[in-house]
Order: sequence, then C-alpha cells, then structure tokens
Amino acid sequence: MKAMRYIILLICGIAVLVVFAAYSHAELQTVVIVTTGGTIAEKADPKTGGAVPAVSGKDLIEAVPGLGKIANIEVVNLCNIDSSQMTPEIWAKLSQTVDECLADPKVRGAVVTHGTDTMAEGAYFLGLTLKSDKPVVFVGAMRDASDVSPDGPANILNAVTQVCSEEAQDWGVTVTLNEYINSARNVVKTNSTNVQTFDSGEKGYLGYIAMGKVVRYNDAPTRQKLPLPSNLPDVTFLSTFAGDDGSLVRFAVDHGAKGIVIDAVGAGNVNAKVYEAVKYAISKGIAVVITTRVYHSGTWPMYGDQGGGETLERDGVILGGDLTGAKARLLLMLAIAKEKGDVSKIKTYFKR
Ligand code: ASP
Repeated sequence: MKAMRYIILLICGIAVLVVFAAYSHAELQTVVIVTTGGTIAEKADPKTGGAVPAVSGKDLIEAVPGLGKIANIEVVNLCNIDSSQMTPEIWAKLSQTVDECLADPKVRGAVVTHGTDTMAEGAYFLGLTLKSDKPVVFVGAMRDASDVSPDGPANILNAVTQVCSEEAQDWGVTVTLNEYINSARNVVKTNSTNVQTFDSGEKGYLGYIAMGKVVRYNDAPTRQKLPLPSNLPDVTFLSTFAGDDGSLVRFAVDHGAKGIVIDAVGAGNVNAKVYEAVKYAISKGIAVVITTRVYHSGTWPMYGDQGGGETLERDGVILGGDLTGAKARLLLMLAIAKEKGDVSKIKTYFKR
C-alpha cells in the first residue's frame, strides 16, 4: 500500500515538472537565427592555421550557454561563406528567407549571423527590402571560435536579448557587436581587428546592452522600403583619385552599367576629366550618384565650378548625401529596378 502511495506521488511529481517545463517553454518567445558564415562561424584550420568556415548553426547556438532560457531558438542555415564573398543576389535570398521566417506569428524577430567585412551593407540591404517590421539583428565576431576569447557567443546572446526586448521593437534592422547597437543605415566597420569595430560616428548608437538589458539612446532613422526585383541591375561603384582621367567611368558606361556610384572627394567633387566622363554617362541615360569618402556630413551642391557638387547636380547627377558609396550602390540598384531607370524618380530616394 505504502509503495503504491510513493508511485502515485512520483507520477504526480513528474507530471508537475513536465507541465512546468512546457509552460515555461511556451512562455518564451521564438527567435529565428539565420546563419550565413563569417568569422563567427570559422575555426582555425589545423593544417594551415588560417580561419575556415567550420561551425554549423547548431554548434553556434550550443556555444552560447543560457540561450535557451531567453528564447526558443530556431536555426536556418542559409550559407557558410566569408562575407568578402557576399553578393547582392545572396542578400536578396537572405531577405526573402528572413521575411518568410518573420511571417510566422509566433516568431518575435530574427538574428542574422554574418561576416563583418560586408555586414554594414548587408544589414542596410535588408533594411531596404524586408517587408516585416519585426526586429532583425545582424551579429558577427572579430575573433573566431578557435580564439582564446571568441566574441561570437556573447554577441549572439546579446542579439537574442535585443530581439526579445521591448526597447528594440521599432529599430528595424540593426548591427550589434560588443554590446553596442547601430542602425543599419548609419553603421560602418571602423577597425579591421578590434572587437569594437562597428560605429555610427556623430549620429551615435541606438543604444547598448548590459547585464542582459537593452538601454535605448535613440530612435532609428526612418526606413525607406523598396521591393526586391527579380533581377538586380548592374550598378558600378568607383572611387575617384588625383589624376583620374575618367576612363573607368567611360568603361562602365560602354560595358552596360545601368547606374554608376562615384566615391568623390570633399563635399562631392570630381576633376574636369571625370566630370566630362560623368556627362557622357548621363547622356546615355545612366543614373550617376556621387558620394564622398569624407565620413561626416556627406555631399553638398557647394561648388559651381567644373566637377563641383552644384554643377554636377545641375547636369543631372544625384548627390548621395551622407550614405557611404557601398550603401548608395545598393539603394541605386533597387531604385533603378523600381523606377525603371527614371532618374527624376530615382533621385527622390536620395533626398536627405
Ligand atoms: N572576413 C570575415 C568576414 O567578413 C571577417 C569577420 O567576419 O569578422 O566574413
């Protein structure tokens, strides 16, 4: 009789534990982690010592203790490449994949693990093309999984924390490494080796994460949204330089570019020969955007002389404002596709 009582008590105890576990699991929000590769998913090759793609999405998650206590995690492995090999076409596939995941009502948001070399542009591309407004956090690492202190696991933990936080619900797409949160539009990679590499300059961070909490500083810039075209038009990105004879611009025109972005100097100035080549491009109906390598303030129609911003704008060039050249190229690709090459309409996407 006593044994029977013990068995019934044991069964009740197990039942309570199962219900509690199911309830707490059901309580947790669901976050989808879409992996694409990068240092965060690399290990040192024992033969060569160089970092090679070697960590699956599942391994990435298992390297983050306590992640399962913050959210229910679902993993989608899209690819496993160094982000120096990324293309706009892969980002288009990534955007479609993330939107499909976010369409599930139970999914709170997504984390994208990605290489840091082109992460700023990839995040910006998704910021332009995602239909969903749910939070998406790009995360990576500056030290690979074989390093003495990899930064990937903590970055993933912080990214999932951010997706689940109330403070982060209207930020759209961000880049979050080393606890600092940057908007996709303003973020740039500023250091080729240091973990504190992503920064937004004078525009500042959106916030940071500490002790498992999100601290909010700023709202994110207003998001522009453009549809993903079936084919992304060919847009060339060039940097001009002292003594540039404009031949690369002419080459791009003669080889089928539908748009050209030129990273110029100062407030968006080019030399006389490049100015002539730009006018040649415009005469062929090609959309030309001028950006500048100068980090803050960007391009302005400041100079009326040959090749100055005012002259260029008068002649039909689009000034890229304070967008980096690499990001302006992605915006121009999407705008050309949407507006079928109509430069007057394309220009509206670059207004400050
Ligand atoms: N080369 C690597 C990448 O961009 C660097 C990194 O992930 O930190 O994929």
